[in-house]
Amino acid sequence: MSDATDGTADITALPGDGLWSDEAEWNLDEFGDALEPGEVERVPEVAIVGRPNVGKSTLVNRVLGRREAVVEDIPGVTRDRVSYAASWSGRRFNVVDTGGWEPDAKGLQQAVAAQAEQAMRTADVIVLVVDATVGATTTDEAVARTLRRSKTPVILVANKIDSEKQEAEAASLWSLGLGEPQPVSAAHGRGAGDLLDVILDRLPQTPREDAPRIGGPRRVALVGKPNVGKSSLLNKLAGSQRSVVDNVAGTTVDPVDELIELDGRTWQFVDTAGLRRKVRTASGHEYYASLRTRSALDAAEVAILLIDASEPVTEQDLRVLSMVIESGRSLVIAFNKWDLVDEDRRYQLDKEIDRDLARVPWAGRVNVSAMTGRAVQKLVPALESALQSWDKRISTGPLNNWLKDVIAANPPPLRGGRQPRVMFATQAAVRPPTFVLFTTGFLEAGYRRFLERRLREEFNFNGSPVRINVRVRDKRERRKR
Ligand code: GDP
Ligand code: GDP
Repeated sequence: MSDATDGTADITALPGDGLWSDEAEWNLDEFGDALEPGEVERVPEVAIVGRPNVGKSTLVNRVLGRREAVVEDIPGVTRDRVSYAASWSGRRFNVVDTGGWEPDAKGLQQAVAAQAEQAMRTADVIVLVVDATVGATTTDEAVARTLRRSKTPVILVANKIDSEKQEAEAASLWSLGLGEPQPVSAAHGRGAGDLLDVILDRLPQTPREDAPRIGGPRRVALVGKPNVGKSSLLNKLAGSQRSVVDNVAGTTVDPVDELIELDGRTWQFVDTAGLRRKVRTASGHEYYASLRTRSALDAAEVAILLIDASEPVTEQDLRVLSMVIESGRSLVIAFNKWDLVDEDRRYQLDKEIDRDLARVPWAGRVNVSAMTGRAVQKLVPALESALQSWDKRISTGPLNNWLKDVIAANPPPLRGGRQPRVMFATQAAVRPPTFVLFTTGFLEAGYRRFLERRLREEFNFNGSPVRINVRVRDKRERRKR
């Protein structure tokens, strides 16, 4: 009945069916308030971190009380972050099981650290799971070191304590410097209730807010395949400017981030620790790089995608681009190493841009050289304009006036002899701007692209993705009800 695909589906709970019945009766103002974003209740998040095989999935299943998080037994299989809804003593929270990785990769320590850093940024409580029968390994120690700086509460779980006589093994984990180890047997349930009590005790009353702090620094991620010059650009930005700010009053900055002042404004570059920490090992490298990219995008509001302008655009560049698109973040593309670009290469690059970057005609583009410093200052206005678009809200009145005119001039093509009507549009969310069109029939891809192009022309969303959902009202189905 609807071809809406993303998470905005809840706004189908529109007030009063009558609003649908007759165009003449629409009252635009009635929609406005009901559709404010942020009405979705935010549930606190508990992140489970730890190295492979300590029993994280088993613990997640235990917390959920059902076998939902499938325990992965196949080596080398990578899982993504999965979030499950849980509750205990009447309180609801989400449990996030941060993916797996190649267990034999040399980049294991980095991967676990990245996982912990991600949790420090997004979770409300972090649960570090350690296999008490093995004791603290160097990887456990490294991740504990990271987590000791965490402002988010950390609970240390000594897992695989299947019987009372093993409790002494749990006590040895005091050495990790994360307070009292909670002895648990995820497999048998021993200690699970006590652990849940401790988790509830540490959960904040209100979950942390992802929305940008008003007046605080905006968050930027530097992404791109290895060797495009991300750390060089970071150094240039941090170094060429007068001050690298350590501390801005009233803001909390994750230890993995860096505040850099550019043009009199402070920017928060996220996960610079991960950027500077180079992993050049064979097998885990690619996977670690993509984990880092995803985590940085999660934390950021705008991405600078670096592309090496001196070399042909590659598959790997496009993979990173896809991750940016999926993240819904605003985007500036920096063509780096411009000092190496000659006339011929420039001509080639233009062709590659037409072919490979056609998906993001809206992204701002700047040609820079992290080495010489060429044009790096032009990144700032590009970032600002991208964020402005990302934050932009078009009120329902002007939006529908525009829509009416566009559709009158270019009505949707017939489908099966019927003319779909676009009855109403509203912007359901910002960051990125997300629109919902209510129609009486399916809109073809070509017509959607046309509408998006016109929407962008009219309201200017340069630098930001725009999402459009189409809600089709199915008359037959409604009559049956
Ligand atoms: P993950 O990689 O951290 O998610 O670990 P898993 O949940 O996949 O568990 C790894 C292995 O440890 C599996 O064979 C589990 O059956 C086992 N395991 C997990 N929890 C316990 C426990 O409390 N006691 C014992 N004896 N084994 C456990
Ligand atoms: P990262 O892996 O993306 O962080 O890339 P790096 O910053 O480590 O840079 C990779 C290599 O490219 C280094 O040898 C840099 O010196 C070089 N490099 C970075 N930016 C430029 C540039 O603008 N021009 C030139 N010629 N070389 C660059």
